[in-house]
Amino acid sequence: MTRGVATECVRHVATCLAPARSVSPMDNRPPPAKKFKSSLSLCGQKRENVFTHEREREMQQQRRELPICRARGQLITHLRQRETLILIGETGSGKTTQIPQYLYEAGIGRQGIIAITQPRRMAAISLAARVAEEKKTELGKLIGYTVRFEDLTSDQSKIKFLTDGMLLREAIGDPLLRRYSVVILDEAHERTVHTDILFGIVKAAQRKRKELHKLPLKVIVMSATMDVDLFSQYFNGAPVLYLEGRQHSIQIFYTKKPQSDYLHASLVSIFQIHQEAPPWHNILVFLTGQEEIESMSRTCREIAKHLPQGCAQMTVLPLYASLPHPQQLRIFQLGQKDCRKVILSTNIAETSVTIPGIKYVVDTGMVKAKRYTPESGLEVLAVQQVSKAQAWQRTGRAGREHAGICYRLYTEDEFEKFLNMTVPEIQRCNLATVMLHLLALRIPNILTFDFISKPSPDAMQAAIEQLELLGAVEHKESQIILTAMGKKMAAFPLEPRFSKTLLLSPEFHCAEEILTIVSLLSVDSVLYNPHVKQDEVHSVRKKFISSEGDHMTLLNIYQAFKNVGAHKEWYKENFVNGRNMTMASQVRRQLREICVKFGVRLESSRSDTGNIRRCLAHALFLNAAELQPDGTYATLDTRQHVAIHPSSVLFHCKPSYVLYNELLHTSKCYMRDLCVVDAEWLYEAAPEYFGRKLKGVKS
Ligand code: ADP
Ligand code: MG
Repeated sequence: MTRGVATECVRHVATCLAPARSVSPMDNRPPPAKKFKSSLSLCGQKRENVFTHEREREMQQQRRELPICRARGQLITHLRQRETLILIGETGSGKTTQIPQYLYEAGIGRQGIIAITQPRRMAAISLAARVAEEKKTELGKLIGYTVRFEDLTSDQSKIKFLTDGMLLREAIGDPLLRRYSVVILDEAHERTVHTDILFGIVKAAQRKRKELHKLPLKVIVMSATMDVDLFSQYFNGAPVLYLEGRQHSIQIFYTKKPQSDYLHASLVSIFQIHQEAPPWHNILVFLTGQEEIESMSRTCREIAKHLPQGCAQMTVLPLYASLPHPQQLRIFQLGQKDCRKVILSTNIAETSVTIPGIKYVVDTGMVKAKRYTPESGLEVLAVQQVSKAQAWQRTGRAGREHAGICYRLYTEDEFEKFLNMTVPEIQRCNLATVMLHLLALRIPNILTFDFISKPSPDAMQAAIEQLELLGAVEHKESQIILTAMGKKMAAFPLEPRFSKTLLLSPEFHCAEEILTIVSLLSVDSVLYNPHVKQDEVHSVRKKFISSEGDHMTLLNIYQAFKNVGAHKEWYKENFVNGRNMTMASQVRRQLREICVKFGVRLESSRSDTGNIRRCLAHALFLNAAELQPDGTYATLDTRQHVAIHPSSVLFHCKPSYVLYNELLHTSKCYMRDLCVVDAEWLYEAAPEYFGRKLKGVKS
C-alpha cells in the first residue's frame, strides 16, 4: 500500500459511537492537549519519587483536559446511585485512569477496595504506575497492583489494578469478594475467559451480599467498544452510560485493494511514513507474534541503513510479552526528536496502554489467537483476522496524546466483513481450567452456570472428561464434584495438568525438579534468542542441551543458574533472560509453599531424569504425539498431524513418543516445548484411555 493509493475514506473516530444518552456533550471541545512529557515505569520498577513542579502541573492540566473530566459531576452522581453500570467511552477518554480516582475522591466504596481488572499484566502494572503518579503516591501504597506471582499492594491499598485471572483466583477463596466495595471490569470487549467468568461471579456476589445484608458490591463494566445490549441484559437491565468525545481525532486510511502479503504492506507503509513525516512522529505497527516481529525488525533496520541521505534515523523496537523487561521499557521512553521510533508489537499494545509519541498506527488486521475444536480436542494458536472491536482499539492507540493517523492494511469492504466483536475466548479455548475453577468456586451445577455467553456443550463435556482423566472430578448422584486431588489442583495458580504434575511428583521422587520445570513453563521464556547472533546462541547453549527434550534442557539451564547465582555476565554470556529467570525462581518459591501446605514430599531425583519424564508423562499425557512410519507425528488423542517446532532442541531428532506443551499453527501445526517419553509410561498413566489410543503397546 502507498499513501497514494489509499482511499480518501477518512473517518473521525469520534463519530463512530452513537451519541445517545450522552453524559458529556462535547460541543465545546477543549483545545487539544499541549504536548506533555510522559514517562512511564513499568513492571514495578522502583521509580525515583521526584516530581518536578513542571511535570506535575502538566499532568494535572492533562487530566483536566480529558473528555471524562467534563462529565465528572454527572458521572459521580450515577456512580453513587447505581449498583451496576455499563460505561462506554472512546479509548483515551480517561475511563481507566480516572474512574477509580473519581470513586475514591468522592468517597464511594471507601469501606473496601476498588478493584480494576485488566486482561493483561503489562496494562495492570503500567496503569497502576500512572495512577499512582497522578495521585502523587508511591506505587504499592494507596494504589497497587496484583498480577500472577507479583503483588505490589499493602494494607493501605484502596485502588488495586489486577489481572482478571488474579481476581478470579481471589474469588475461589472468597466468592463474595468481601474485601472489595467496587469491582470495575475493564476492557470488557476483549472477552477473555477470566473476565467472562468474573461477570458471573460478581453478579452472584452482588445478589448474595444483598441477601446477607452485607456491604453492597458495585460493579462497573467498561470498554470503548462492546455489545452493550448483551451486557445490559445480562446485568438485569443495568443502565448504559455513553461518555462522548475523544480527546484527539484520528484519520483512517484503508487500502484500495486487498493485500496478499500483510508483512510486505506493513514495510511499504512504514517507509512511506518515514520518508514523509517529521521524525518525532512515531509509528506503532500491529503484527502477530515474536518471530514475525523479530524478522520484520531486522528487515526494517537493514532498509533504514540504506536510505538516501537526509532521511531521518530510525529506531526499531519490538514489543511482545516474552521480550526482556528492560527492552519493553524502552518503548515507553521518550525518543530523540531527530530519530523516529517504530514499534512492532503484538496485540499486547492493543488496549489500555499509552505509548508516548505515537502518531501513526499501522494495522495489519491480523492477530495470533487461540482456537479450539472439541471434536479434535485441539487448542491451537493461529493467525487470524481481528474483530472490528480490536481494529478500533488499535486505531485508538494513534490518538492518545495528539491527533493521529491509522493505516489499515485492508480495504474498507474487508473491514466491514470482520466480526463486530471478538468471539469470546470461552467459546474458543479448552475449558478444563475454567471447569476446575467453577467447581472450586462451589458453583452448584457447572453446566448451568450463568455464563454471559455459553460455551458449547461439547466443549464443556470434553473439559469434564479431561478433568476426569486427571483424577480431578468424579460423578456422584448425577452431579460432577471435585475429588480430593481436584481440590488441591485448584489451589495452584496453574493449569490443571501442571498442578497434577506437581501433586504426582512425590510418587516419582522428583518434586524439586518438577517444581523447577513447572515454574520455568509458567513465566515468559527464560531463553533469549537474538536472531543476529544465532550461531553464537547455538554454540553456548550446547552445554545445556538434553537429548531428552526441552523440559530437561530448561532444567539444566536452571541448575546452572542456581550454581552461579543471579549474575549479569552469566545471563549475557548464555543468552538467558535474567528477569524471567528471577521471576521463575520467585514463582518456584511460591509454588513450593503451596506444596509444603499440602504436605507434598519434596525430594530431588538427582541424576535420574527417567523419573522426571515419567512423572511428566503421568500428568501431561493428554498432549502426546507418536512418530508415524513416514517420519511425521500424529497426536495420540485425535491423530492430528503435527510437527516439531524449529525452536525445540528435538527439531532434528525423531523420538517415537513425545509430550508437548502447546500447539502453534502457522504454515503447519507445530508442537512446542517437547519431552521424550516411553509409550509404556503413557499407558500406565491412563490405561483405559490409552488402551483405545496407543497402537503397538498393550491394549
Ligand atoms: P481510556 O481508559 O479511556 O482509554 P485512560 O484512562 O487509560 O483512557 O487514559 C487517558 C489518557 O491519559 C490517555 O489518552 C493518555 O493521554 C493519558 N495517559 C494514560 N496513561 C498514561 C501513561 N502511562 N503515560 C502517559 N499518558 C498516559
Ligand atoms: Mg482503558
